[in-house]
Amino acid sequence: MSENSKSGFAAIIGRPNVGKSTLMNHIIGQKIAITSRKPQTTRNRIQTVYTSDRGQIVFEDTPGLMKARNALGEYMVGAAEGAMRGVDVILWLVEPDTYIGKSDTAIAKKLSGMKVPVILVINKTDKVKKAFVGEVISAYEKLMHFDDICAVSARHGTGLPELIDAIFGFLPYGPMFYDEDTITDQPVKQIAAEIIREKALRGLGEEIPHGIAVMIERMEDRPNGGITDIDAVIICERASHKGIIIGKGGATLKKIGSEARPDIEKLIENKVNLKLWVKVKKDWRESDMLVRNYGYDKKDLNL
Ligand code: GDP
Ligand code: MG
Repeated sequence: MSENSKSGFAAIIGRPNVGKSTLMNHIIGQKIAITSRKPQTTRNRIQTVYTSDRGQIVFEDTPGLMKARNALGEYMVGAAEGAMRGVDVILWLVEPDTYIGKSDTAIAKKLSGMKVPVILVINKTDKVKKAFVGEVISAYEKLMHFDDICAVSARHGTGLPELIDAIFGFLPYGPMFYDEDTITDQPVKQIAAEIIREKALRGLGEEIPHGIAVMIERMEDRPNGGITDIDAVIICERASHKGIIIGKGGATLKKIGSEARPDIEKLIENKVNLKLWVKVKKDWRESDMLVRNYGYDKKDLNL
């Protein structure tokens, strides 16, 4: 690493499903190995580290921006805003669409009040004609000033080298924050829980928005190695939700498990025997105590 290397923080924000996780995974490649663990922390901000000979970008994925309706919602707003405050640059991911809805208008309002530079990232450009991307850019430029604009496809990797260039443009010179081989600072259990939660939310669509949490109750390597047994519980608020999550003859739960398993295997580099349960805990989102129990801790937000 030369004296000219840069190092800094980038927050990725945007509505759910816009491609934040896909972008992050593509940038850091498929080697989601855990090399730096802080087992006692339960931060819900996922930091992912990209290192090259130019320096280091620490990405912070944030759990969406939304109104606080209860303890968990409050936490999530805090996480997103907290993550945005301490960074050198914000990446705002949007769909390739000229229609700009309420939530994106609200995000623009929030961003224009901040001093941090903002890169507008038009994602999923593989879905639209090139000329249309120009129209999307014009539509967003009417909302606020952007310090840079990149058109990408997180899925195919198009435009990502240019995006990385743009990010480095906003980072200060300085030493790296993490070892060169660090990919993330999240404890492995928490990432596994997040993988399951993501697959569940995706499978359930908008039916149960944010109404679930996932807890890993057991993660154990068998004595002869080769297989890791994982017991995980999906916690929901209502008995009716439990039925939806399990699905007909257990089909939905099975699908969640079979989608999560390969990702967790990649993560821990071992075969996984995954068992999933569903439990109902009424109003768990309302209680700070439970919110903490399920891995969301307000304390960790004080950056
Ligand atoms: P997040 O909620 O913002 O983290 O979004 P995800 O990364 O989970 O992506 C949501 C969905 O959009 C997934 O089905 C992705 O495969 C899809 N997606 C993400 N990036 C792209 C892209 O560049 N092109 C297309 N066509 N789909 C994408
Ligand atoms: Mg995501």
